[in-house]
Amino acid sequence: MGRGPLASKLLSVTFLLALVSCAVRTVHEGPGLQPTGELTVDVRYPPAGSAVTATDSTFVFGAVVGASGVPASVSVNGVAAEVDPGGGWLAFVPLDPDSFTFVVEATAGGRRAEARRTVWVPRPLFAAAADTLPYKPDTIEPRGPLEVYAGDTLRVSVVAAPGLTVTARLGDEPLTLVPRPVGEVNRGRQVWGSEETVEGVTPAVLDRATAAAQGSAVGPWVRYAGDLYVQLGGELGDTLALEIVGAGDSPLVVPVASVTYLDPTVVRVVVLDDDTAGTGATDGRVVARTWPGLGYQALLLNGTTVAAGRRAGSWREIALGPGTRAWVPIGEAFQIRAPAPRDAVAVVRTRVVDGWSEVVLPLAEPLPFGVEQRLAPPGYTVEVYGLVSNVDWIETSISDPLIESVRWSQPADRVFRLEVGLAGDRAWGWRSYREGTHLVVGFRHAPKALADRRFRSLLHGLKIVVDPGHSPDPGAIGPTGLAEADANLGIALELARILEERGAEVVLTRATPDSGLGLYERTNLAVEAGGDLFVSIHNNALPDGVNPFRHNGTSVLWYHPQSEPLARAIQAELLPRTGLADHGVWYQNLAVARMTEMPAVLVEAAFMMIPGQEARLKTAAYRRAIAGGVAAGIERYVDGNP
Ligand SMILES: [Zn+2]
Repeated sequence: MGRGPLASKLLSVTFLLALVSCAVRTVHEGPGLQPTGELTVDVRYPPAGSAVTATDSTFVFGAVVGASGVPASVSVNGVAAEVDPGGGWLAFVPLDPDSFTFVVEATAGGRRAEARRTVWVPRPLFAAAADTLPYKPDTIEPRGPLEVYAGDTLRVSVVAAPGLTVTARLGDEPLTLVPRPVGEVNRGRQVWGSEETVEGVTPAVLDRATAAAQGSAVGPWVRYAGDLYVQLGGELGDTLALEIVGAGDSPLVVPVASVTYLDPTVVRVVVLDDDTAGTGATDGRVVARTWPGLGYQALLLNGTTVAAGRRAGSWREIALGPGTRAWVPIGEAFQIRAPAPRDAVAVVRTRVVDGWSEVVLPLAEPLPFGVEQRLAPPGYTVEVYGLVSNVDWIETSISDPLIESVRWSQPADRVFRLEVGLAGDRAWGWRSYREGTHLVVGFRHAPKALADRRFRSLLHGLKIVVDPGHSPDPGAIGPTGLAEADANLGIALELARILEERGAEVVLTRATPDSGLGLYERTNLAVEAGGDLFVSIHNNALPDGVNPFRHNGTSVLWYHPQSEPLARAIQAELLPRTGLADHGVWYQNLAVARMTEMPAVLVEAAFMMIPGQEARLKTAAYRRAIAGGVAAGIERYVDGNP
């Protein structure tokens, strides 16, 4: 997902199923029936030799070819597969760890074909054999290099074999780490397989691992952990190391990270910029996270200056409000020589600019800020960090059609808050930018087209951006080889036709199968076109290990609160038309849904990997039905009836 990857790749709708096709094995012809041609079966997924990160079962799919109208049946390791008349098949089969082979048998009209596919199933819960290093290097925390303050506490941990003594050392300070049970959580199952057992730190899982390890001199892995207090450090820094001792072995010393001690009397300041290559193809914002590598906390405009602190590997800590820290990629935070950014504000102005009502804060510094949206009643909270109020004037105009009220407060030291109340019944979007160092936050008026619709269709004059997902990447691939990018385009072109027929102005982000657009090129295009609504068309896939027979159907995804009513309206109209299960309306962190300027949703109409759904996605009728559902959902939303 370009710069600022998703919180979890497993959550990604762009989850890409690899497309290695497989060689067909043997063909046998049964006695007594006249074959009508060669029968072959292939495995589309998983690819040969790939690691399947599932704990006990996973899906496998492909196509049987040459049945020629005779019903075909397919089994995988003896488990019956679902077979579509079009040839696509799908099975959910138990797995064994290590090297594992799917044996696929197809029969049709007395003929038989077979294919084999061998993959690797890792054993995350089991310790290594005694003759290998008894720890997992990639589980060592923290990741360096580290820059810390004296008085910090570092959580140090490593996954290793049981029965060891593990000591963390920083300078002369030893800390014996305490063994804790470790479990392997399958993120995909955790998210999607809600009513299934999730592999985690459960006694049953540990019992199973212990039993399986018996007689092999290795037990389930253990996580050794401890909190290391950082004493006043030396000027030259130190090395954090782990000392691992087993019975009768000489100690193994593993360097973990170089540690540099920060001088607390020196204030460090960074300027943020995500477009380090100067391509202009980013969203112009730096993602600030709750913890190194974890969830999104704020999106900060390029050019923001902010006080910085610790370093943890490739992440730099920044200070927002008092006690509010976040972490940004170290490559997007450039240290400058400057005092900590802070400012006082004396006046708040508002103005109306071409369909937007804007609040202008005349600041002298590009301070970090956050905007939060409320739906009922519609309004926004704007918080600026490093700012002190000296506000004696707030200028608003009675001719402003949207901004009803502006109130300021100082809820914490150097946190300035504005509460902006809006007229009207819903929020259409917001934007933020800087005019020099002045901060501008704009709130969008309802589309003009909605003002007078007495003799027009609901959609008349609305500018709707339709985004056929994927390309140049194909997206998910179905059992018989249908690429998601092509299915998405077919639906999107039909949707564009329907919307135009009903009076909307449609902007397609791509209209051909071979166009190559990045995610932010799609959203930048939508914003530049002045779109009123944004709909991205996709079809879904699952991560390894999730049962596709239980977890499939139609879903619509949103990110900002303003988009949720649109998502619900589309889901309500789409479900009866896809005829599939309700897979839900999801909050999900997606690049194309993150833009704030308009309600933006992502539709996951059907599942590529389900043979019957893939077969229907190939037909013009089904694509038309999906497009009709999305169009009806947009109308329902515009009509104020989500
Ligand atoms: Zn997709």
